[in-house]
Amino acid sequence: MKALILSDIHANLAALESVLTAAKGRYDIVWCLGDVVGYGPRPNECVEMIRELATICIMGNHDLAVLGKPGMDVEAFNPYAQQAVLWTRDTLTQTNRDYLAGLPDRPVRPTGGDDLLLTHASPREPVSEYIMTPSIAMENFGVFAEGICLVGHTHKPVIYRWRLHDEIYTEVFDDFYNDAEGFEGVNLTYPVATVDSLQPTIGSLIQLEHSPQLRLIINPGSVGQPRDNDVRAAYAILDLEALTWRYERVPYPIELTQNQMRAAQLPKRLIDRLSFGW
Ligand code: ZN
Repeated sequence: MKALILSDIHANLAALESVLTAAKGRYDIVWCLGDVVGYGPRPNECVEMIRELATICIMGNHDLAVLGKPGMDVEAFNPYAQQAVLWTRDTLTQTNRDYLAGLPDRPVRPTGGDDLLLTHASPREPVSEYIMTPSIAMENFGVFAEGICLVGHTHKPVIYRWRLHDEIYTEVFDDFYNDAEGFEGVNLTYPVATVDSLQPTIGSLIQLEHSPQLRLIINPGSVGQPRDNDVRAAYAILDLEALTWRYERVPYPIELTQNQMRAAQLPKRLIDRLSFGW
């Protein structure tokens, strides 16, 4: 069973369609890590496609903001994102709004995906925290038990690898214990955990080994608004039996999305950034 992993589509229909065409025939199910809407010009079409295709879709901060519920109000967004959220709120049909309202705002453990957890932002703050550094990843490894957690939200593809090293850090309490307790020198050994961040190579098959000593947080990047200086749409294919991860990029007609955004009078800054991937 292969899962097509999509995140941060952001109402960019041209990007979503290009990804689905590129991945055609190479996946069995679709999992979406949230932010189907916001920023982009085709929220209804994107929600309808995800409603149709995705067996799991998690709630993103933009999905939540367009609902106008307390807790994730539009005030938390920068003025450009805010304007797009308000436009999206007016544009969404009731059926699509209801679909977004029903999305889980907590991490989800998929059936058939042993030892996997899916969340939009982070295990600790499922809708809002940005895992941008190994140290933020490190704190998050402490709040979930699964071997692999898939996240979106930052729009940057990355793999954080947590490893537990045995007997790396040793303290010798010779003098103290000799004096205080009468011990003959006591060595205390602590297991030490480290997190490093790995940059997946486009198109290469990565074996997702994991164990209680080796766990992963993986971000597939963004379909509709990449922020890693690569303008192409990002996605990944996860093979649930072989436990492999294939991260991919595909070009899409950026000008088409930009023209649709102009017609919708969405902010120029949001239109321009698609040409640069930030
Ligand atoms: Zn997003």
